Amino acid sequence: MKFQGQILKMTSFDAQPIQYYLTLSGDLIHMNELFGKEITIKHTGFQCVNCNENKPIYRMGFCKSCFFESPYASDTIIRPELSTAHLGIAERDLQVEKQIQLQPHTVYLSYTGDVKVGVTRNTQIPTRWIDQGATFALPIARTENRYEAGVIEVALKEHLPDKTNWRKMLQDDFEGEIDLADFQQKIKEYFPADFQKFYSEGEELWKFDYPFEKPEKINSFTLDKKPEFSAKLTGIKGQYLSFEGGNFMNVRGHEGYVIEMEIS
Ligand SMILES: [Zn+2]
Repeated sequence: MKFQGQILKMTSFDAQPIQYYLTLSGDLIHMNELFGKEITIKHTGFQCVNCNENKPIYRMGFCKSCFFESPYASDTIIRPELSTAHLGIAERDLQVEKQIQLQPHTVYLSYTGDVKVGVTRNTQIPTRWIDQGATFALPIARTENRYEAGVIEVALKEHLPDKTNWRKMLQDDFEGEIDLADFQQKIKEYFPADFQKFYSEGEELWKFDYPFEKPEKINSFTLDKKPEFSAKLTGIKGQYLSFEGGNFMNVRGHEGYVIEMEIS
């Protein structure tokens, strides 16, 4: 079977274990069915997620000009605390920014090998956590917009990491239970005074089961370094495809790359 097309991050379905799907050639490929099979991937070009042109991808699936111009790649995507749509102030395109920012957001703790703090739109729950490879996640604050969630995150990241360390995430095979509620109690005092009202207690702890077993060693490669390769797919965690021998490819990191994929 041969497929070809633009890589976008895998969609996932929260089951035991999590089910992953990749869309290529308009086909929805159920990745869990490919475990144990030899996959050949060949990089053939680019398709920017914004303008669709065959231009090198700069970051997050965008070509360089779109990355610096599209409201979908603005600074507030990475740094929610810079949001200004609630003040009616545009960054790149107020209409789009209102859609993204003026909706309910959640501040959460997740465990990805470390306990970290993060922000997500409610509509991205639980996708956001699965994408980062979190084993556990706990909402700790519920806000009306992106700005409020961002301010809380900034205050808390003085005390906790806010980035996922992918190597730790892939190496982690923690099997107990992390008491994120206890963590939440401990950091409550770091909430900015005006934002205590968003604090949310007694939320459901999310737990995720990945189709993945930790290999002995971990190597990550990109299609820039390895434009063509064949290997046996063994599992998936977060957005990382795990191939035999401990080789990993981050699917999300290749958004906008055009590939041919052959399954034998
Ligand atoms: Zn573009």
